[in-house]
Formats: sequence, C-alpha cells, structure tokens
Amino acid sequence: MNKSVFVLLLLTLPGFAFAKAIPDYPAKKVAAHTYVIHGPAVLPSPENKGFMNNPVFTITDKGVVVIDPGSSLYTGQMVLRQIRKLTNKPVTHVLSTHVHGDHWLGNQAFSETFPNAVLMAHPKMISQAKAGAAEQWLKTMSTMTNGATDGTRAVIPDKAVNEAFSFKTGGMTFRILAPKLAHSGTDIMIQIVGDEVLVLGDNVTHERIGRLDDATFRGNINACDVAIKLGAKVYVPGHGPSGKVSVVKKYHRYLSTVYETVKVLVDEGLSDFEMKPKVVAKLKPYHNWNGFKDEIGKHVSLAMLEAEKAMFE
Ligand SMILES: [Zn+2]
Repeated sequence: MNKSVFVLLLLTLPGFAFAKAIPDYPAKKVAAHTYVIHGPAVLPSPENKGFMNNPVFTITDKGVVVIDPGSSLYTGQMVLRQIRKLTNKPVTHVLSTHVHGDHWLGNQAFSETFPNAVLMAHPKMISQAKAGAAEQWLKTMSTMTNGATDGTRAVIPDKAVNEAFSFKTGGMTFRILAPKLAHSGTDIMIQIVGDEVLVLGDNVTHERIGRLDDATFRGNINACDVAIKLGAKVYVPGHGPSGKVSVVKKYHRYLSTVYETVKVLVDEGLSDFEMKPKVVAKLKPYHNWNGFKDEIGKHVSLAMLEAEKAMFE
C-alpha cells in the first residue's frame, strides 16, 4: 500500500485518535498570569470538532488554574498542550462556568493527567449534570460533530462553589460571583483578582449571539451589571474575542433592547410573529453577529414569555 493511501485509511477509520485531535490554537496572554485560547465563535460542527469556546488558564507560583477546557477530551488535550508550551507546573484547579457541555467536557483531559486537581462548579451545575445533563451533552456534541467528540467521558466537578467563595493558590486569589438565573441558572463568573480579569462564562458572548434557552433576560442583564460594576481590566466572554468593559456593555445592550422592546409590544398586544421585525430593526449593530438570524426569533418568544410572566409578579 502506498503511503498516501495508508494515511487516508487512517484518517477515515472511526475512532482513530489522530483524526479526533484538535489542532493547536494559540493561547493569548491577556494579563500577567492569564491566557485565553479563543475558539471559533460558531456552533459545534464536524469541521471544528466541537471546539468553539474560550478556555482560560492562569499560571500561579504553585500550578495552573484552568477554566472551561472545552467540549471534549480532545479539546482538553489541546488546551493542555498549549499550557505545556509555557510551564511544566501541574494543573491544580479546574473550574466549569456552567452546565453547557461545550465548556466542561474537556475536564476529562485534566482529571486523568492530574488526579489531585480540584474540580469546581456551581452546586446546580453539579446536580443538573448528574441528573442527566452530562449524558445529554455528550450525545449533543457527538451528533453535532458527527462523532468527532466520541470517546469523551463526562467528568463532573465535585466541589460546589457559590457566590463570594474564594480560594488562594500560588500567590493568586480567585473569587466566585454567582448571579442567579442568568445564562443557565448554573452560572459562575470567576474574578482573577491580581490580574484584574473577569471570566464571564456565557453570561456574555461577543460577536456571536448566545443561546438563551435556559436563560432569563432579567437575570442575565443583572449578571452583566454585576460584571460591569466590578471594573475589571479584561473581560473574557464564553465565546468570541475578549476585551474591555465594552464587551459586556454591548451584550447588555443586546439583551436589554430585546427585553425592553418586547415588553412594550406585549403591552400593545402584539404576537411574537408581529414583534420580530420591530425588534430586529432595533438591533442593527448585531445583525452580523454569528447566530443572529438563527436565534433572534426564539429570543423574542422567550422575552415575550418572561415579560408576560413578569406582569403577574
Ligand atoms: Zn452556555
């Protein structure tokens, strides 16, 4: 068999590890100790093999703290390779910002390599993952990537952390903010204190419209307010480029424009079908954001349900 046929055969064999490996994405230094690997801001697909979030890591004096190492074992392994280009220190902590599997199924790569690492998440992230969300997300990622994530196991965090919890390691302090009923009802944001970085999870996305199926508009807007008030130097969204506070403000404006516009139209008695073009017209700066066309109709319906419910509160 000639060499190219052999390579082709290897690449097409299902389950062959080489075909599943995620190519290296650069780790961008955003603060003195903190790096972000910005994934493609699109949906999981066979092309990106499920990698489309923003893994973060901070190198402390004692080891490495990792946040959201991606959607699969292979994404986690890619994150670890980027860490290894910078340090040989062990990974001591892995935090998951919320229950959506594109953020945390990469935990497996770290728990296997560093059995002593502490895996942390919101208590509801842990309970929902155990109650079936983990299995559901493994299936969803496999389906959306045409099997590219297969072989991944769900390693669910076991240390529950909530609002105002903080921990110190290797001279750095990490503080948890847990706004209620924001993007998923299982959300934590992580303040990397000395570096003045705030990792937002999917409470904020940038240049990509987030899915809000598990969100509330008012809770998510509140999470943005909390983030803005913190006055961090660097904000890392769950998807899309990091930046200054303007990243949070822009997403805040999206959410509040949808919700406030819909609220007025609910009072006027319009149906969601009639509302949609009126809301879309107010969102010009977001029309070119990835996912806008796919999500906006659903966002109007969700905002309408929430605004109607709010009338009876
Ligand atoms: Zn999410």
